[in-house]
Amino acid sequence: MHQYKKALVLGAGRSGRAAEALLRTDGTPAVCICEETTPDYRYEDLHFTPEIAVVSPGFSLDHPWIQDLIAREIPLLSELEFGWSRRHCPVIAVTGSNGKSTVVKWIVDALAQAGQRAIPCGNYGLPVSAAVMLAEIPDWLVIEVSSFQLETIEQFRPDIGVLLNVLPNHLDRHGDMETYRAFKLRLFENMQRSDTAILPFDFFQGLEKSGEKVPGLGTMGRNVPESWGPDAGRSAVTKTFGTEEGADYRFAGGHVGEIDLTETCFDNKVLGAAGAAVAAVCEACGLSPSAVEASARAFQPLPHRMETVAEINGVRFIDDSKATNLAGMCAALRMVSGPVHLIAGGRAKETDLSFAKDLLVKQVSRLYLIGEASEAMQAAWADSVECLPCETLEQAVCAVWESAEPGDTVLLSPACTSFDQFRSFNERGELFAREVCRLKSECVDA
Ligand code: ADP
Repeated sequence: MHQYKKALVLGAGRSGRAAEALLRTDGTPAVCICEETTPDYRYEDLHFTPEIAVVSPGFSLDHPWIQDLIAREIPLLSELEFGWSRRHCPVIAVTGSNGKSTVVKWIVDALAQAGQRAIPCGNYGLPVSAAVMLAEIPDWLVIEVSSFQLETIEQFRPDIGVLLNVLPNHLDRHGDMETYRAFKLRLFENMQRSDTAILPFDFFQGLEKSGEKVPGLGTMGRNVPESWGPDAGRSAVTKTFGTEEGADYRFAGGHVGEIDLTETCFDNKVLGAAGAAVAAVCEACGLSPSAVEASARAFQPLPHRMETVAEINGVRFIDDSKATNLAGMCAALRMVSGPVHLIAGGRAKETDLSFAKDLLVKQVSRLYLIGEASEAMQAAWADSVECLPCETLEQAVCAVWESAEPGDTVLLSPACTSFDQFRSFNERGELFAREVCRLKSECVDA
């Protein structure tokens, strides 16, 4: 283990604290700072020169502390990369705009079905620095990686890397789609011949057509052949997934190859495609298709991600409070069939709402708008779908109940963050579930 003379850790949340502990186990004295406890921190306040600064996931590159450290040529290491550098087992990394946690959980479940112990970590589960300190060494680490954390990587190299999708998201931080996409692709940049890169078929086809050379990636279905020159052996075996013909792992007719996903929550185009990605990962891990199928059959959705909270008089209520961007809401609409009463709104991340319109027209019988984004959403969509401004979630649930018919679906998939009215998407989802429970008990009493 490399022992530093002295380290600085930015951020004192779970990841920062875990990094601090990991540094100390290596014998490196570490100081942890964060904005809450050290709001006016200036680099000059430190009475030592750190040899390294480990950065928690919440910090962006343009943060003044980071700028200061860069100016002083102190090397920066993301908590992800630092934790990864201390791993004792192979690593699967999952990145993408939406669906990461669901896929991480599914991979962990599938490995467990095959008797292997996998630890979910990164954005979901333990901080990576904590996962590598577990007394009992697991068979796999399955890391959920956000594009933020890929901004500063240098050596991070998962054994298996999955890019699930690249949808408009977090553009406030990354500026534009090109930059965002470039960060996501960094997942693969250090990969070698023995590694496996897994990408959406249409996305990879686009890369191949454009002739863009992405470091670490091979050509479809293989790594770069020996005869191709200097990059030979420096690229991963590259596999694609999706719903399209030609994908190495394809979801079609409820199946991914011999894996039967019918009558599971994955039997739709969105999660079926994610299932194809999971099948690719599991094959790269040496699992049998039956382990993937068994884990799909036993899968319990994560809280607030397409979670059915109740069915009342034939009306199904789904909590997808985790959909904090438009792409998430659109994915949710593609996962349900039949007429949908959609509750959306909150604090919008995006300003261009137009791309959701066609889907709203196709799927949504009425839209119930809450929170700050109400007006903008109404302005963007009211000419195509009936909109009912409701202000609060409680009012929206009451209004929905008055008009929903048996066979309808009520979907909370807000396309916005919750911070205008709630502390978190969890709190928003919990209120929705409580309101639905109240309706249910009123119906039983009536
Ligand atoms: P992440 O960890 O990337 O935030 P989650 O698994 O928590 O993803 O799901 C977040 C939201 O993204 C869900 O609430 C749903 O609306 C949408 N979603 C879930 N799975 C997918 C998928 N495979 N592709 C696109 N969107 C998805």
